[in-house]
Amino acid sequence: MIRVGINGYGTIGKRIADAIVAQPDMSLTGVAKLTPDYVAMRAQERSYPLYYVDDSSREEFQTLGIDVAGPVDDLVAKSDVIIDATPAGVGEQNRTLYERHDTPALYQGGEDATVAATTFNSRANYDDAAGLDAVRVASCNTTGLTRLLTPLQEQFGIERARATLVRRGGDPNQPSRGPINDALPDPITVPSHHAKQVTDIMDVPIETLAMKVPVTLMHLHSVSITLEEAPTMDAVRDLLTEDPRLFAIPGEVGLDGAGALKELAKDADRPRADVWENCIWDDSLTLDGRELSLFQAIHQEAIVVPENIDAVRAILDTDSRAASRTRTNEQLGIDDPLLPVDSLQADEPSIPAE
Ligand code: NAD
Repeated sequence: MIRVGINGYGTIGKRIADAIVAQPDMSLTGVAKLTPDYVAMRAQERSYPLYYVDDSSREEFQTLGIDVAGPVDDLVAKSDVIIDATPAGVGEQNRTLYERHDTPALYQGGEDATVAATTFNSRANYDDAAGLDAVRVASCNTTGLTRLLTPLQEQFGIERARATLVRRGGDPNQPSRGPINDALPDPITVPSHHAKQVTDIMDVPIETLAMKVPVTLMHLHSVSITLEEAPTMDAVRDLLTEDPRLFAIPGEVGLDGAGALKELAKDADRPRADVWENCIWDDSLTLDGRELSLFQAIHQEAIVVPENIDAVRAILDTDSRAASRTRTNEQLGIDDPLLPVDSLQADEPSIPAE
């Protein structure tokens, strides 16, 4: 049993905690929480041992009726691996804590690349993590791009990829983030940092442009790829449907945006309406010789969760890439498709016409 601790129990940390509990080969040693609040109360409700980060908050936790198991140091000491899900830049400050206990650490995509020897995506470079002290799990946008580009590169070769990332301004629980009435190039310079993060994982010529818009639900990517070989559309579709972490949105079912996709996730009883898959619109797939274009939506709060689970097994070298990904998919329910149709299998309508 792999003992996993989580430091930073916010949007990403709480999702990873639930995912760890669902794995038969892992146990959750506990979660470290900075702020005594409603999120901590729910952690207690789930019987997750709760560790404090700041000694002065101990009493406040107790005022809310939350039992604390001890300081974060104790959590790190009793874990085989620690997942740092603190805000961007804080993970780096925690590095000495993990090193002091000789506990391997997984950091998140908000950290600089220098925090770890490798940036991780389980589809692209699982084996690179084995035996390392630290790994950075790629950010949501990078995960979405890497998952898509890796099979295409393996199968057809990529001469050049270009992606425009229309990014959500903040998560639903972040009212202070914006913009509230604007569309911002962010960063204004090209390429955005996402291209660099993709090339930290895979060797691919890519340019990214990024903006931020006043939505909270999902990111939207417009992607154009010049392949080295001209494939058939069937070959592209076959490839993209092989991976359960890529969801092909059928054209006929009214899934016209992020709102509908989140509604579908609610209807499918996904926890927190999470969408772990890249959502690729089948109708957007366009092939002109070697030029492939498409739209995909990425649920920023959820997409990195399966990757963190795989990264635990990868860094400790307990399972092969295929075994880990299969296990993660089964336990989270990614194998249970959001819709019981597979529109990319054929050109004819995949659900009966009305
Ligand atoms: P968040 O703010 O929702 O959660 C971070 C949690 O860490 C909060 O509960 C905060 O109180 C706590 N915290 C702050 N300082 C701490 C400390 N010193 N020790 C322990 N806990 C501390 O942030 P998030 O959205 O979950 O992001 C976490 C990381 O994941 C970041 O690197 C971010 O870039 C990355 N990430 C976020 C998203 C997303 O869309 N939210 C997607 C992919 C990756």
